[in-house]
Amino acid sequence: DVKKSGRGALRLFDAGMSAYAREALVIDGALRGAIAASELRLVYQPIVDARTGRMDKVEALLRWQSATLGHVGPDRFIPVAEDSGLVIDLGAWVLAEACRQLGAWRDQLPHLAVSINVSARQLLDPAFLLLVEQALAAHGLAPQRLELELTERVLIGNGEQVRAALGRLRELGVSISLDDFGTGYSSLSYLTQFEINTLKIDRSFVTGMVDSPRSHALVATIVAMGQSLGLQLVAEGVETAGQADALDAMGCHYLQGYHISRPVAAADLLRFAAQRRESNR
Ligand code: C2E
Ligand code: MG
Ligand code: MG
Ligand code: MG
Repeated sequence: DVKKSGRGALRLFDAGMSAYAREALVIDGALRGAIAASELRLVYQPIVDARTGRMDKVEALLRWQSATLGHVGPDRFIPVAEDSGLVIDLGAWVLAEACRQLGAWRDQLPHLAVSINVSARQLLDPAFLLLVEQALAAHGLAPQRLELELTERVLIGNGEQVRAALGRLRELGVSISLDDFGTGYSSLSYLTQFEINTLKIDRSFVTGMVDSPRSHALVATIVAMGQSLGLQLVAEGVETAGQADALDAMGCHYLQGYHISRPVAAADLLRFAAQRRESNR
């Protein structure tokens, strides 16, 4: 049995492999050609000011329509790409494509910021900072218009390296946002150790906040803490008007979720922006 990782390596199935490992091999194999075959695209989900409804930001989310596997969601293929290292290439493509799109929107959406999801391996890749600089410069974008979303998982384990990488990115003027805040390895010491601009309150807390007093109290506490630390707050997974109103009342700055819009193709985002300008909420 030959099992080698890396590009172009020979891989044979092993009868003793777990179902996950077998699925991962299939996904990894198909994903290797995905960029060249133009099977990847980005969709954009609006992030709006809770007060005014203005779309200040969008989150770019990766989509993969595989010729052999059909549609595969990022929750299935990103972990595989993280394990194999392919996420570095995928991430570079996402960065370049999001910046290209922002450049293409310069007339219609001149102030829009885009946020992209970044994996640990990408952030710790020595070439990453230069890639970010190049992507911004290639499309004449101010660094303030790019935000990088990291999860708490990225911060643990590589503290010193991560701190150095974030410091250089912040020096460049790029914003850093802590994604899915409150899940997993929450440690409040991250908030003082790392240069973070934004907290994204995880969907799981937002989902329960209208019916569960405890979820409501938890979200209110995160908002109050974030405010006192001078952080921007984004609520993820806002699905109802009731949640949006409660978050606004707490002083949460930004809302993201199906109640505002699903992630949409680039052309549809322009339509969304035009509608917003007319109705203003
Ligand atoms: P995330 O960064 O937390 O992205 C938010 C996810 O929640 C997205 O799922 C989005 O479609 C979904 N969502 C947004 N609003 C709502 C809502 O109101 N209700 C519900 N139920 N869901 C909502 P998606 O696009 O499937 O992405 C899943 C995860 O995959 C992302 O979580 C992110 O961790 C990862 N991912 C996506 N694109 C990339 C990428 O380009 N690079 C990396 N490294 N990871 C990515
Ligand atoms: Mg995210
Ligand atoms: Mg998130
Ligand atoms: Mg998430």
